[in-house]
Amino acid sequence: MALIVQKYGGTSVGDQERIRSVARRIRDCRDRGDHIVAVVSAMKGVTNQLIGLAQGASGPEMHPKRELDMLLATGEQTTGALLAMTLHDLNVPAISLTGGQAGIKTDSVHSKARIKYIDPEWIIRPLEVGMVVIVAGFQGQDDNGNVTTLGRGGSDLSAIAIAAATNADLCQIYTDVDGVFTADPRLVPQARKIDEITYEEMLELASAGAKVMQPRSVEYAEKLKVRFEVRSSLNQTEGTIVKEETPTMEQVVVRGVSLDENQAKLTLIDVPDRPGVAAKIFQALDRAAVNVDMIVQNTRHGSAPSTDMSFTVDRHDLATSRRVIEALKPEFGIEKVQVQEKMGKLSVVGVGMKSHSGIAAKIFDILARENVNIDMISTSEIKLSVVISSDRSQQALRAVHAAFLE
Ligand code: ASP
Ligand code: MG
Repeated sequence: MALIVQKYGGTSVGDQERIRSVARRIRDCRDRGDHIVAVVSAMKGVTNQLIGLAQGASGPEMHPKRELDMLLATGEQTTGALLAMTLHDLNVPAISLTGGQAGIKTDSVHSKARIKYIDPEWIIRPLEVGMVVIVAGFQGQDDNGNVTTLGRGGSDLSAIAIAAATNADLCQIYTDVDGVFTADPRLVPQARKIDEITYEEMLELASAGAKVMQPRSVEYAEKLKVRFEVRSSLNQTEGTIVKEETPTMEQVVVRGVSLDENQAKLTLIDVPDRPGVAAKIFQALDRAAVNVDMIVQNTRHGSAPSTDMSFTVDRHDLATSRRVIEALKPEFGIEKVQVQEKMGKLSVVGVGMKSHSGIAAKIFDILARENVNIDMISTSEIKLSVVISSDRSQQALRAVHAAFLE
């Protein structure tokens, strides 16, 4: 008998019909003799609706965070109760629990609480008498009994944590896609599902724009050594296994490619080359909550050494970044600020890049053939990213995919 933790995301429980089909899937697994813990998200769109209600009550961002957590937690509880009722209707005994009832203990940081530990007794007991246990995702309880939530997308985190705490045999993340793909199938028709991927690769693809799961929960799974499967709740197809790296996984050079089409690039021309300047510039951006991605600096050695400094930000942060930099211009005597508004970041990811050489040269060669100019380059052990103009970036993505993955 296996213990399986199954997480169902918002689309998978999006309406009554979908909830019924989830209930049937759970029933079938149970009929095969497995113990099932189902971790559920709010029905698609519900969390946003609840946020809208809160704004109606007290204006944007003015509501006490404790009460916002009370409100948002009801989304997952609603799904849990409905799923339990549907299971009863199928003659399957089931009980739904809030995060607190399931023993999920967190700190008191409302709206982005951290899980401290899970006391799994209340999950295990009903399982032992043959019930399906449903746990509301995305929520827990602090030491004073207050309801807390774990940050947007936090049901993934709940599922991983519960799988670790109950020592589950299997953790399945059910969503509306068949798994993790070699590229976004909407941009690359030849993209295919990946059978196995390492935590690290999955995180790199996520940071490069491929959002299948909440990145924090993938980090958490890596830390707790929880192997899990991402798969679709809409069919019976096997999904993608996410796990620690094994030697055979290094044989594949490139696991996947991804594209972030929402980048913008700023270049500061003639920044004085002296200690502390970069610190000041990036501290100012940080204070304005701008998330800087790639940074490149090129020093010119003349009589008054100066440097050109380029960095990329999410396009939504461009206006703020510009304002911050304009304000710093007089203090540092920055000559000019150049802005390229429409940039894309193309990333190539694979643990095999550690042990294979010549990958960078091959990528640059492909881009040259496509007549795509490279603006910036950054590398890590398992990733190479280039910033390119966004009007050519989809074409570049397809060319790189064709070369490595088809
Ligand atoms: N319902 C929450 C959200 O939309 C948590 C989740 O779905 O994972 O962020
Ligand atoms: Mg989600």
